[in-house]
Amino acid sequence: MQANPNYLKLPGSYLFSNIAKKVQAYQAAHPEAEIIRLGIGDVTRPLCPAVISALHAAVDEMGQAETFRGYAPDLGYEFLRHAMAEQDFRARGCDIADDEIFISDGAKTDSAAIQEIFSPDARVAVCDPVYPVYVDSNVMAGRTGEYDADTQTWSRVIYMPCTADNGFAPALPAETPDLIYLCFPNNPTGAVATKDKLQEFVDYANRVGAVIIFDAAYEAYITDPEIPHSIYEIEGARTCAIELRSFSKNAGFTGLRLAATVVPHDLKDRDGVELHGLWARRHGTKYNGAPYIVQRAGEAVYSAEGQQQIKETVAAYMKNAQVILQGLKEAGYTVSGGVNAPYIWLRTPEGMTSWAFFDDLLDRAHVVGTPGSGFGPSGEHYFRLTAFGSYDNTLRAIERIKKM
Ligand code: PLP
Repeated sequence: MQANPNYLKLPGSYLFSNIAKKVQAYQAAHPEAEIIRLGIGDVTRPLCPAVISALHAAVDEMGQAETFRGYAPDLGYEFLRHAMAEQDFRARGCDIADDEIFISDGAKTDSAAIQEIFSPDARVAVCDPVYPVYVDSNVMAGRTGEYDADTQTWSRVIYMPCTADNGFAPALPAETPDLIYLCFPNNPTGAVATKDKLQEFVDYANRVGAVIIFDAAYEAYITDPEIPHSIYEIEGARTCAIELRSFSKNAGFTGLRLAATVVPHDLKDRDGVELHGLWARRHGTKYNGAPYIVQRAGEAVYSAEGQQQIKETVAAYMKNAQVILQGLKEAGYTVSGGVNAPYIWLRTPEGMTSWAFFDDLLDRAHVVGTPGSGFGPSGEHYFRLTAFGSYDNTLRAIERIKKM
């Protein structure tokens, strides 16, 4: 028996496991320290009442012989696919049909799995810094070449630096890729992409025959009416883009698990193969459907009350974002993000490395954040804080940071 050699190439463990270990060790050594976590991107507010009612009702249905449901359809229940197609897409003028939406239990799972339908030697372009799952899942698939520990880059990955100079929205890739991962509003920088920027990518992808994998997990945080919520708001996206959607950050489903991936019928590979059919085949083989009760809860998100209630939750997080943004500015930090996204991206002081700042913040303020370098080489000297804490903890964390 031999382990998969691709897995053996992965450097270290997953970023957030490393952070958890460090925090655990610090807490063990300093039991009196009252640690505030503004690191991991998990939500803290409870599910909204519309979702809770839908869950109760669906659980009751499952207890009755007449309404019991077994395996869910592996591509998702029609009621949810329809609600999403109507409200997330057609209401915004995006031409997306119900059957182009595939329901799943997470955008993380789908963002890691979507690469399976592409050639094993596909060249991948990613933003730098980036949500680590995109690169790591391609490492596992053996596509990324060799790792250079000095530069923290893979030889076959095309990096698109997102820096203060380009407003954290990347220029087109320097070499021609087959797959381009884009995530806006962005994790970790909190930056957004304008319509013009996305149009540039869509036109480019159509021209070179590349596919964009657009991660819209944070679209609910967009406050600026000019910023697109979906890649399909961009002309030409149906022939070059897949979109990932999640119920985690807009509706607090991180523990319930629900998401969707959109693959339009018009999306074909360079030989004319429809990717919709391949993803349906993959889903049908490897996935047995998100739970009925969770899909009913997802449907409730699209009810009038659900929409109102999740808006209130998002607004509460954005109030935290404002506290962080304002407080850090007052403390003299260079900050961005936090306006159309729940992430605040700050420049570390005095040229400290991201990890040195992590240690300093934990030690002197007992606040946990995420080192920017963990998201890619261009994240060095940056640090991510999230707006997902409670309001009180956010206020206290910022007061402590101001006193550092
Ligand atoms: N995509 C991005 C960019 C994320 O930051 C996250 C979670 O932090 C996810 C996807 C995960 O979404 P889900 O909870 O639906 O798996």
